[in-house]
Amino acid sequence: MERVAGWFYDGRRFREGTVGWEEDLILEVRPGRARNPLATGLIIPGLWNAHTHLGDAVVTQELTGTLEELVAPPHGLKHRILAKAKDDAIIGAMRRAMATMLRTGTTGFSDFREGGLKGLKLLYAAVAAMPLQGVALGRPMALEYDAREVSAILRASDGIAVSAYVDWPEDAIQKLAAHVRREKKMFAIHCSERIREDIDKVLDLSPAFLIHMVHATDADLTRCADAAVPIVLCPRSNAFFGMTPDIPRMILSGVRLLLGTDNAMINVPSMLREIEFAYRVARMNGGATARAIFEMALRGRRLADPDRSGAIRVGERADLVVFDLPGGSSGFASLMRASASDVSLVVAGGRMWPAESAGIPKSKRRRRS
Ligand SMILES: [Zn+2]
Repeated sequence: MERVAGWFYDGRRFREGTVGWEEDLILEVRPGRARNPLATGLIIPGLWNAHTHLGDAVVTQELTGTLEELVAPPHGLKHRILAKAKDDAIIGAMRRAMATMLRTGTTGFSDFREGGLKGLKLLYAAVAAMPLQGVALGRPMALEYDAREVSAILRASDGIAVSAYVDWPEDAIQKLAAHVRREKKMFAIHCSERIREDIDKVLDLSPAFLIHMVHATDADLTRCADAAVPIVLCPRSNAFFGMTPDIPRMILSGVRLLLGTDNAMINVPSMLREIEFAYRVARMNGGATARAIFEMALRGRRLADPDRSGAIRVGERADLVVFDLPGGSSGFASLMRASASDVSLVVAGGRMWPAESAGIPKSKRRRRS
């Protein structure tokens, strides 16, 4: 068995002890520090990036212009560049973004993949060698409903995710969402990002989750809370376009909140940076606790499996991040300031990443038990 020791997150607070795993499962969680652990420090479950567009990593130029000019389909800059980019360039860019996620403590992500069925295939090619868990949500090539295309995308994905209700002809997006529902897959959509949208029409699509809701009213947020539809916040992305989500107001509404990094051309997909920024943005509106922000960065784990917890427990998947940071009652505050250089070990599905820079001797890396 492999072991780490220090202060681990038990779902409520940080406790001092030892966490051990074999293969991809946590099999030991106990008080007291093991002798010779692989790493020592603050131990958390792998973070979950609940909203990415990893393909956008292929766009590397400095960005100027509005939200519509940069990301709106079908003519926004990202769509023009993605349409022209070579497959290998997109795969390589996504792979770099995935390596960044792992190095910064993220072991799972939910991606909005553009480019229809082929776009999904590029995502799978990029993630193939990585120990990341992904929720892959595809979308039709055009803003129109074609039953055959949607069936093909659904067979190859966890569901469908689109830009925004206002971008689509009403009839087409309703047919699209109904089709996803019939196949019992996930439907997700950006909402109230640049303008307030009609929440009832959007909730009628039975989304698994919404992104942004920056322009939502209190009543809109309550509707989401009542419908048990979570909202993924991407405050760095919003700030790039001159907006900030009112995080304390959203927490008060009772809606379940998650955190994501959005377009990889706008933000590096580091959840540590998103956590730090979200904490600051929350302070602009009265503040949220460090624990509340931290949990937003874990909650996405349940997108992949509703039975998963955001805690380090026996039987959970061995997704662990060890930071060289103070634990105890300072654990949550430490995480609000954490950067990539504080990460001393990432374990994703039982695999260490990257084994070389974790300072683990080769003999130990290969050892199975
Ligand atoms: Zn997005």
